[in-house]
Amino acid sequence: MRAEAMCMPRGVSVHHVNRHITDYAAIALQYFLGNQPETSLYSLLHWISSYQTLFSRPCSKCSKLLAMDKQTNLLLPPVHRPYWKFSFSKILSNISLKDQNSDTTQAYHTGCLTEEV
Ligand SMILES: [Zn+2]
Repeated sequence: MRAEAMCMPRGVSVHHVNRHITDYAAIALQYFLGNQPETSLYSLLHWISSYQTLFSRPCSKCSKLLAMDKQTNLLLPPVHRPYWKFSFSKILSNISLKDQNSDTTQAYHTGCLTEEV
């Protein structure tokens, strides 16, 4: 089995994916700082760690892994992880339940998120 075969489907631009996430991370950080100043770093780190499944978790709306991004005309994975669902109390209750395997993180394509919210 070749490792690189499972990393990147053809036509996916790592550059564009990274740019999307960088822009989004700045917005998420502002949100965490504004809403949960005491636990913002903790929440941000949890949010970032949800990107481990970037190329394996399908979109919560259309159930596909890759979708055409209208802005860039590229196939992109679900780059949006709703950061407002990463509240500290929620993370804490997950830990206390020792339920770390039940990953309830949602992922959305850029297009799917704007339709949903
Ligand atoms: Zn989607």
